[in-house]
Amino acid sequence: MEHELGTLYEAQKIELQIIEKETRLQTAPKKLKEMDEELKQLKEKLEKEKVVFEELEKERKKKEKELEVDKDKIKKIESKLYEVKTNKEYQALLKEIEAAKSTNDKTEEDILTIMEKTEELKKDYELSQARLQKRGKEIETEKVRLDAETKSMDKIIGELKTQRDNLLSVLSSELTSKYNTLKGKRSGIAVTNVKNGVCMGCFMNIPPQLFIEVTKNKKLIQCPSCNRILYFAENE
Ligand SMILES: [Zn+2]
Repeated sequence: MEHELGTLYEAQKIELQIIEKETRLQTAPKKLKEMDEELKQLKEKLEKEKVVFEELEKERKKKEKELEVDKDKIKKIESKLYEVKTNKEYQALLKEIEAAKSTNDKTEEDILTIMEKTEELKKDYELSQARLQKRGKEIETEKVRLDAETKSMDKIIGELKTQRDNLLSVLSSELTSKYNTLKGKRSGIAVTNVKNGVCMGCFMNIPPQLFIEVTKNKKLIQCPSCNRILYFAENE
């Protein structure tokens, strides 16, 4: 029995490697999806910033045109100043000029404010663009790595399963079926080490007398709490 238990424990160790690799394989599509989602969000952010930027630019051009038209208007009024006959008319024109100038001042202020905003937005946009480029490259590399890992992992898992099956094949069918049943019920761990009187499967204490028996590895003993097969691997 000692030899059989040792073999079973070896099979279990390989089983754990299989579980770890299968878990990694299973999470690969999720990782890919997360990376695609991240890229999508970065692109959307960039696109939004571009739209705001373009709208502000449009607004600025509109204001600049307004300013030009108003300046022409002032020039026209100013030229009329020499043609007026009465002081009243003259004063009226001056008032008109003053009003137009004050409108222009306001428009100029608006243009300045817009320019400040676009300057800021441009910086944000450039940052977003750089970030997208950087993450895009990183994600591309990560995808290639994941793809290669997935491909090699299939092969490695296959090899590990063969190793495990070879080990199990020399054991009695009673023992292997016990192993398989427990494995199914106990998240893949059917055989577990015992350290300082504690089952490493469920971390419950083993009665001292039973623990002494376990350390001998002479017969099949199951944990009173989790039912796993106990094996004493002293140096692990
Ligand atoms: Zn246990």
